[in-house]
Amino acid sequence: MSSPALTTTVAVIGGGVVGAAIFHTLTHRGIDVLLLEADSDLAYAASGTNSGILHTGFDSTPGQLETELILRSAKIRPAILKVLGVPVKHTGAELVPHREEDHVTIRALAENAAANGVEVYIRESDGALLVPGESVTDPVAFTLALAQSGEVAGGRIELNAKVVGIEPGEDQLTLHLADGRSVKTSVAINAAGLHADDIARLVGDGTFEIYPRKGEFFVYELPKGQTLDHIVLPVPTKRTKGVIVFPTLDGHVVAGPTAIDLLDKDDWAVRPDAHAEILEKAASQYSALNGLQPVASYAGLRPAGRDTNYVIGSSKTTERLINVAAIRSTGLSASLGIGAYVADLLPALGIELGEQLIPTPAKPITPKQPWWQRTAQHRHPATV
Ligand SMILES: Cc1cc2nc3c(=O)[nH]c(=O)nc-3n(C[C@H](O)[C@H](O)[C@H](O)COP(=O)(O)OP(=O)(O)OC[C@H]3O[C@@H](n4cnc5c(N)ncnc54)[C@H](O)[C@@H]3O)c2cc1C
Repeated sequence: MSSPALTTTVAVIGGGVVGAAIFHTLTHRGIDVLLLEADSDLAYAASGTNSGILHTGFDSTPGQLETELILRSAKIRPAILKVLGVPVKHTGAELVPHREEDHVTIRALAENAAANGVEVYIRESDGALLVPGESVTDPVAFTLALAQSGEVAGGRIELNAKVVGIEPGEDQLTLHLADGRSVKTSVAINAAGLHADDIARLVGDGTFEIYPRKGEFFVYELPKGQTLDHIVLPVPTKRTKGVIVFPTLDGHVVAGPTAIDLLDKDDWAVRPDAHAEILEKAASQYSALNGLQPVASYAGLRPAGRDTNYVIGSSKTTERLINVAAIRSTGLSASLGIGAYVADLLPALGIELGEQLIPTPAKPITPKQPWWQRTAQHRHPATV
């Protein structure tokens, strides 16, 4: 006998940081929300395998939706993270010039930051660009805290709940899950990361394509007595944004990522050649890494849009499906801004928003392992 359909007002498809932030935002506006995650836990995909940097938007292009949402997020995030107890290391970032042309780039970046209203300084002694607002967090703790807080506010989460079909009806959608269950909902929000295009195609919407852009990282322990207290950002060139070196909250130093465009959405392996590629670039920015062997490695797949970025809005074929797709490189930073932006789309679909509730504290999260090991262990348990 088939089980009765679950019912909800809004179903969020995908439990990465974007889905979790939307879930958090909407539950705190009094909406009945069900979060559906295909995997056995949240944040195993891009949201658990990134750099964990909360970007200020100093280098983002003024006027783009991505920039708008990074800046919107930066305004509302500190108060929410404080209540939820999400750890943040306020490190700031430095871009040190190594070549003559880097000074020109740094001046252009300072002007860009001013256009976005982000505080930066140029250090007199060496012309380095200092960005005091850049910080690092634990991206898994960040995602889980948003989700748990949403649950405490009345939302529901279903794990192992892969959406495989969407049936549009007159005033609702029926979502079909891989295990045979179904969900009746007024609106569905497609935050399925790498698979957001597969979800859109379930309603005949082929307007965007998502491909994986792999980023590999290496984790180091510095020799006793040495610490890194800020994020080391390379001065970007026309060709590349380069390799970042950053401290983690648990005292490690991470270098990465690479940027390799793939077709296979399941290829989460770190390539044998990746370490040499990363170390050469990272050590030229931060020489303490020279000669060190990494203690761990991980790879993330950015959900990159083919010729597009930040696709947010109702599907062209089915108004009640809101796509939140191609959130490629800044989703951790922009997530709460994305949540607020999506909330603003709901009244047009007949969903009334309540008063903004004060964030509900999450239950303390006790990680079984450091976040930078979690996805690698989940996907390749034998090799880590
Ligand atoms: C190498 C790298 C470095 C990065 N560095 C940073 C950084 O420093 N700062 C920053 O702000 N951002 C960074 N990013 C970007 C950031 O990680 C992403 O923008 C963000 O994680 C995207 O979140 P998401 O929720 O959209 O996708 P994901 O995290 O991929 O989550 C999507 C979820 O949907 C689920 N799903 C898929 N299909 C279905 C289905 N059919 N049914 C139900 N669930 C489904 C998946 O299992 C997954 O859990 C980086 C990304 C990478 C990979």
